Amino acid sequence: MSERNAVTVIGLGPMGRALASAFLGAGHPTTVWNRTPGKDEDLVARGAMRAGSPEEAVAASPLTVVCVVNYDASDAVLRRGPVAAALEGRTVVNLSADTPDRARESAAWAAGHGIGYLDGAIMTPAPTIGTADAVLLHSGPEGLHQAHRETLEALGGRQTYLGEEIGRAAAYDIALLDIFWTAMTGYAHALAVARAEGITAQELAPFAGGIATIMPPLFEKSAALVDKGDYTDEINPITSAASTMAHIVHHSEAHGIDASVMRAAEGLARRVIGAGHGADGLLRITELLNPR
Ligand code: NDP
Repeated sequence: MSERNAVTVIGLGPMGRALASAFLGAGHPTTVWNRTPGKDEDLVARGAMRAGSPEEAVAASPLTVVCVVNYDASDAVLRRGPVAAALEGRTVVNLSADTPDRARESAAWAAGHGIGYLDGAIMTPAPTIGTADAVLLHSGPEGLHQAHRETLEALGGRQTYLGEEIGRAAAYDIALLDIFWTAMTGYAHALAVARAEGITAQELAPFAGGIATIMPPLFEKSAALVDKGDYTDEINPITSAASTMAHIVHHSEAHGIDASVMRAAEGLARRVIGAGHGADGLLRITELLNPR
């Protein structure tokens, strides 16, 4: 018998499989279940136990990690009488991505059924799981988190407990993915604009990397100032930023390339300028969107 705690993984998409693989690799007796059969062959070959139903899966371990596409999917699996009954007195960690409100609502449902409930967010791609590069965020009752921390450590990397408020991990997730998806959409647009001038993705990529490295110090430097409502930026006033954005819009559209993302950004910058804050930096947009 393994000395490690048993764990169940529900959801065997790329991320669920990575989670189950990390638990197995760390020596945890691991039970798996997925809605569509056939995704657990490798895991079972490595010693995972295949459950025939979600209720059988959750009954196999004190801790169930759920990782499906979203909370509609996790509700579809968990919120059925036999599954809820089998979960009573056990704990669920929901690592599916969704909104803070869905996490809060699920925690209330779990409390009503005597189920321990933790929420989490995975901030790095599936191949990082179980390595030093994994980044996971957790929130929910501290005692429950402490009770399962050792098992969750198998997932590797940097794992941060953000506190008792159950929606906290999802709130960070939403904010961080906001950065990621707008940045990657900007990159996709940049590749299209570069292609219009005969520049390949391989030619642009090293310089794109340079642009990305400019951002982390800006996040660090501005954070305390933003929290105070200070958006002063003598080096890069938003008037200058809006002018550059207009060049990108004109150039894209001259090539017949949709510039709606940059038009939206320029529109926000122009509203800040119109409100009399043209001498401030771009982050003044934060105040426009959600005044303190
Ligand atoms: P997906 O987001 O594509 O989710 C696939 C999983 O969801 C499968 O197990 C699928 O089951 C299940 N599922 C979908 N709908 C339902 C339903 N109605 N009922 C039951 N199960 C359902 O794959 P990932 O594994 O990549 O992602 C899982 C979660 O992890 C997501 O929330 C994602 O945002 C998050 N994540 C993923 C990362 C990655 O690198 N992949 C990185 C960071 C976070 P079936 O096989 O039966 O369709």
